[in-house]
Amino acid sequence: MRIGILALQGAFEKHAEVARSLGHEAVLVRSKADFEDLDGLILPGGESTVQLKLIDRFDLEWSLTRFAAAGKPILATCAGLILVARTVTQPEQRSFGFIDVHVARNAWGRQIDSFEAKADEGNLPLVFIRAPRILEVGEDVEVLARFRGEPVLVRQGNVTCATFHPELTNDPHVYRLAFRRSSAKGLPGFAPLGAGASA
Ligand code: GLN
Repeated sequence: MRIGILALQGAFEKHAEVARSLGHEAVLVRSKADFEDLDGLILPGGESTVQLKLIDRFDLEWSLTRFAAAGKPILATCAGLILVARTVTQPEQRSFGFIDVHVARNAWGRQIDSFEAKADEGNLPLVFIRAPRILEVGEDVEVLARFRGEPVLVRQGNVTCATFHPELTNDPHVYRLAFRRSSAKGLPGFAPLGAGASA
């Protein structure tokens, strides 16, 4: 697939590397024209307030909205999730509402700004960096992974969101889920790297 990575600010390079390693073409997206012919899109982590300003400056909101509305797969991680959530607090911030979740920013507190963990369900590695927490999920949102009982990987239709940074682990499952060709639900048994399903 031809996957765009919004490349205004934040962790876009590493996402491009992972996308390539999974056999996709990676396109850095910085203008409206860059949205053409994309099959999927990644909204990376970083600083969501800065990203929002840059989206406004480069007039990309309509392109993003159209992409989401077209049903094409979007993977939004951390700050990306904050951009696409229904509502955002701590502090409050405008968001696009591509997925019916309410998130609080920087919500693990200063003591544990950044940390690594495993999902409750299995061996999915999680890297949190000043991560948001998903405080509410709408009824059409599937929770694909949790940490300490809280949703950390969620999906509604074509929009898959992680509160963590999947690009910083060597685990491709999140990408496979987001850019799957089948509509299989859930994390398929956390098969080891390289085993089974291709992206
Ligand atoms: N704390 C950042 C924000 O509010 C998100 C952090 C991240 O993307 N790693 O935008």
